[in-house]
Amino acid sequence: MHSKLLNQIKNIKHSFGTKDDPIPKNFKSLWHLMPKWKQTHSTDITVVHKPNQSCGEVDGLYTSQKATPLAIVTADCVPILLANKIGDKVAALHAGWRGTKSKIVFRFLEFLKQQGEKPQDWIAVLGPAIGPCCYEVSKDLYDEFEKTFAKNSLVSPALTKKENHLDLPYINFCELKQGGIEEIEILRCCTRCTNSFFSYRKGDKGKRQYSCIMIEQTEQ
Ligand SMILES: [Zn+2]
Repeated sequence: MHSKLLNQIKNIKHSFGTKDDPIPKNFKSLWHLMPKWKQTHSTDITVVHKPNQSCGEVDGLYTSQKATPLAIVTADCVPILLANKIGDKVAALHAGWRGTKSKIVFRFLEFLKQQGEKPQDWIAVLGPAIGPCCYEVSKDLYDEFEKTFAKNSLVSPALTKKENHLDLPYINFCELKQGGIEEIEILRCCTRCTNSFFSYRKGDKGKRQYSCIMIEQTEQ
C-alpha cells in the first residue's frame, strides 16, 4: 500500500505492508540492508548512518543515507513515515498508545530541529492502524489522553465518536500539524476491521506488517 503524498517525492521509495504482503514486495530484496532495531513503545529515536546498523531499542529511525532502508513493524499501532520535500532525508516512527501518549511525535520534531531541519520542509504519512471505529480503551486511559491532548484531537471530527474510543492516527496528525508539518496524509485503513492487515486486537498475536521507506541510490 502506498501514499500519494510520498509518491510525489523524488528518489523516495516506500511501502506499507499488509496481511498479504507483510514485508512489502519492493523491499524484499533490500532486507539485508535493514538496520537491526527493537521497538519498546519508547520515544527514543536514532540516526542510522549505514545499512544494517545495530540500533538497539528504538521507536524512531532517521537517515540521510541513500540505499539505507528504514522500517517500523506494527499490528494496530500507528506507523508514521516521513521525508523532507527534496527527498534527501527520511524517518520512520512507531506510535502505539504508549508512544502517542508520551509524545514521540513532539520528541521527533525536537530531534529534527537538532539536526538543523525545519518541520515545514517535511511531509508525513500515518499508515494503517486501528481506527476509532475499533479502538476502545479503558475509561482511565481515555481520561489520561483527555488530560494530555486537546479534547477535539482525540477523534477526527470527520468520524463518529464513540465512548472511550481513541483515534491514534488523528491524535498524531494533530501533533505533527501543531509542530509545523503542513502536508500530512492519513491512510484511513483500520487494521482491526478491514481484514487486510494483521491486528493484535483481532488476535493476530506475533503477526505484524512492516512499513518501509528509503532514499534511492540515484545515477551519477
Ligand atoms: Zn475498525
